Amino acid sequence: MPLSANDPSKKTWLNVPAGSDFPIQNIPFGVFLTRDDVITIGTRIGDTAIDLGALHQLGYFDGIELTDDIFLQDSLNDFIADGRKTWRLVRNRISDIFLESNPALRDHSAHKKTVLFGLDEIEMQLPVDVGDYTDFYASKEHATNVGSLFRDPEHALLPNWLHIPIGYHGRSSSIVPSGTPIRRPNGQVAPKEGNGPGFGPTKLLDFELEMAFITTAANDLGKPIPIEETAEYIFGLVLFNDWSARDIQGWEYVPLGPFLGKNFASTISPWIVTLDALNSFRVSGPKQDPTPLPYLQQEGAHNYDIHLQASIKPHGGEESLVCHSNFKYMYWSMAQQLAHHTVNGCNVRSGDMMGSGTISGPTPDSYGSMLELSWKGQRPLTLSDGTKRAFINDGDTVIMRGYCENDQVRIGFGECTGEVLPARPL
Ligand code: MN
Repeated sequence: MPLSANDPSKKTWLNVPAGSDFPIQNIPFGVFLTRDDVITIGTRIGDTAIDLGALHQLGYFDGIELTDDIFLQDSLNDFIADGRKTWRLVRNRISDIFLESNPALRDHSAHKKTVLFGLDEIEMQLPVDVGDYTDFYASKEHATNVGSLFRDPEHALLPNWLHIPIGYHGRSSSIVPSGTPIRRPNGQVAPKEGNGPGFGPTKLLDFELEMAFITTAANDLGKPIPIEETAEYIFGLVLFNDWSARDIQGWEYVPLGPFLGKNFASTISPWIVTLDALNSFRVSGPKQDPTPLPYLQQEGAHNYDIHLQASIKPHGGEESLVCHSNFKYMYWSMAQQLAHHTVNGCNVRSGDMMGSGTISGPTPDSYGSMLELSWKGQRPLTLSDGTKRAFINDGDTVIMRGYCENDQVRIGFGECTGEVLPARPL
């Protein structure tokens, strides 16, 4: 099926500000609460939110096989479960409805009143009910930095790293949409000489600059997904801040891996940008040496050129850019992650979320966490107000942004933000 919605020459009758992340070629999917307190599935063009539930009721999706209530839901799980053919039909149809030359909705003011909302009239919700959340560790630069900081720079990567997309099962209950405040967690930390373990608010609160992909129901239990089929099961991507408490993590993670230092909060951007919308931004990934096992081998361009940024904004202050990275640095692609995840027969369901792991680039200003940017606190960053940061302070808002751009079109993700609140008193 052609991805006609991606045609860069298309123009819309809606206003799209210059430099917007959401031209008519994007057409992401999200869930929002309207001014009338109705929850609906929607999309966004420019700064206009579009109620897909209302559009469907008005007949604008006639001819596409959809249940009546497919968009009148508080999550995208059922729509995602309909599969790639339906996603493409719907995205192409939305593109047609808002095409400059199409008068059907453009000239129907009563319908427009029901369907279109300003961004100040809606409240974005979590787009999916995340059943299972898996976090990978797929950036070689990040794994090398962390290995150097905590173990041995000479043997920074553990022997398995170049053979396996390393991951762990995270917790979905604490995944929150952009804008949700984050409470600094209390927890246990390593003993200092002669004493027992400490307990209190984390002193080493960090962000992790990640992306996450969201899957459809992919396979039955026991049946692996071959790597060449994985793209069919990836609905789209969001920005992902996998908040981390490094001191809690450092004490607890041996031998079973991350636990309370990771599962207190993870923030996602609320609009899922489809894999289809990113199609023209595919690039080759880093050369893989040694060659992975056959089930992880792939041909062609499987990485995506997505510019990523993280900023810190102190309460009432100005924003300082602290990192710019790119999703294309990922050593293990999403296709490899999904093939690996299912090679043992583990089943993946609609609405599952797979985090990439922190995406660090090759230069010190492209590291995707404060742990790396400040080199474990040894080199604090100076913000634009002159204050220093080794980790994240109370009152700081961490803002992540991501976008793809060529000379024809820009496809972006909007923002993924969260302000850190002081810990609960002990
Ligand atoms: Mn993570």
